[in-house]
Amino acid sequence: MPKKDEKSLGITVKKHENFLEWYPEVVVKAELADYSPIKGCMVIRPNAYAIWQKVQEYFNPVLKKHDVKNCYFPLFIPESFFHKEAQHAEGFSPEVAWIGNKEDDEERLAVRPTSETIIADSFSKWLRSWRDLPLKVNQWANVVRWETNQTRLFLRTREFLWQEGHCIYATEEDCVKDVHAFMDEYVALVKELLAIPVVTGMKTKKETFAGAKFSLAMEGLMPDGRALQMGTSHNLGQGFMKAFDVTFVGMDEQKHAPWYNSWGVSTRLVGAVIMTHADDKGMVMPPRVAPIQAVIVPILFEDSKEKVLQACKQMQSELESHHISVHLDDRTEYSPGWKFNEWELKGIPLRIELGPKDLAKGECVIVRRDTGKKNPVKLTNVHDSAKTQLDEMHHDLYMKAKHFLEGNTVEAKSMDELQHHIRERKMVLIPFCGEPQCEEDIKKKTDAGSRCIPFGKKPKDTCIGCGKTATSMTYFAKAY
Ligand SMILES: [Zn+2]
Repeated sequence: MPKKDEKSLGITVKKHENFLEWYPEVVVKAELADYSPIKGCMVIRPNAYAIWQKVQEYFNPVLKKHDVKNCYFPLFIPESFFHKEAQHAEGFSPEVAWIGNKEDDEERLAVRPTSETIIADSFSKWLRSWRDLPLKVNQWANVVRWETNQTRLFLRTREFLWQEGHCIYATEEDCVKDVHAFMDEYVALVKELLAIPVVTGMKTKKETFAGAKFSLAMEGLMPDGRALQMGTSHNLGQGFMKAFDVTFVGMDEQKHAPWYNSWGVSTRLVGAVIMTHADDKGMVMPPRVAPIQAVIVPILFEDSKEKVLQACKQMQSELESHHISVHLDDRTEYSPGWKFNEWELKGIPLRIELGPKDLAKGECVIVRRDTGKKNPVKLTNVHDSAKTQLDEMHHDLYMKAKHFLEGNTVEAKSMDELQHHIRERKMVLIPFCGEPQCEEDIKKKTDAGSRCIPFGKKPKDTCIGCGKTATSMTYFAKAY
């Protein structure tokens, strides 16, 4: 058997010792993504793209349930579209990439940073009467935001993949109802699929999407104490509609502007999965998005090889017939130990070991990736046990992350307390006035920004930034 250098294959940095070096090492060595020849861009490898595909498989039926139809809009947006909605143009101008080579009489084209303008333009052609409403579309697409800040694999890259939903309604009430409904769907998605808990709420004035009346966000807390915005849903009001002359004839036979919302999640979710669940041995795939849920590793000896392989193949087809995705690693050029390391690095949820001694007892051993716990299981019971262990693993990963989030969320009553808690890498709830200038001042003093204003929490005391009346309790944290 060829000897490979196991040390250099494995993760060399500890998660709790140097998170910022640990993270890219896991991403690259677990073959989730690779650096690209273009600065700030990334190559998404099959192991991670599979996670994104599971997100799509989960979310497409959700879209259908809400009567949202998939479609596709051009990657390029005429410059003049950006100037129709002044706030939107200002908000996105620093990070728009422009197409330079053009004929003199052509206007510049933006590479889409988001698609509100070009979709509003189409809505103006498609919408006639109240009967056409609500009109709901979504696209799975790439977007480009020409970051000048430091980029980070999956979390902040110049190009990324996302879905963006765009819906218009006859009334503000229906529009706002769906702004919340889609946020609720995102929270369910990250919990049920990715085993990640979040806090949700409204964005502050300073952090509201450019051109929106209000924005909702879900925020995760990563193990290094930085918050990660994982999804947003915006009530865009009527601004874009008026700017693009989108109108409908109502039941009253008068012309009206519809109400508009947009919402999205991106491949940033993959980064959240890695940061939240991976460990010192590498990736840990949450069972419901794992490209392979179980890997069978036969323990082979010359005299029993055929019998053991036969039993493994039988187990493989049995697991597959119960909808568990499984891989039989029957390579003979690697030792079982080498294979164990490789599959641990890649984060496959269950490893099933089967050797001649196990076979004689009518058993195999199932090892969970997250706990390393070995469970002897009767061969007649493999699929039941595997299913149970996958469910338990999902539940345990979620609860572990939930305890972390709850244990690292605190309240502060003064600037001193806020500064202290931010240094301790906490998510901190404070009474806040909501003013952009005050938020700037707090950022200067703590290096923390607002994350969101949770629902149903009444402000206590005065704003700890400026001493004026607090309008809300607001989460502050350092962020990615
Ligand atoms: Zn204030």
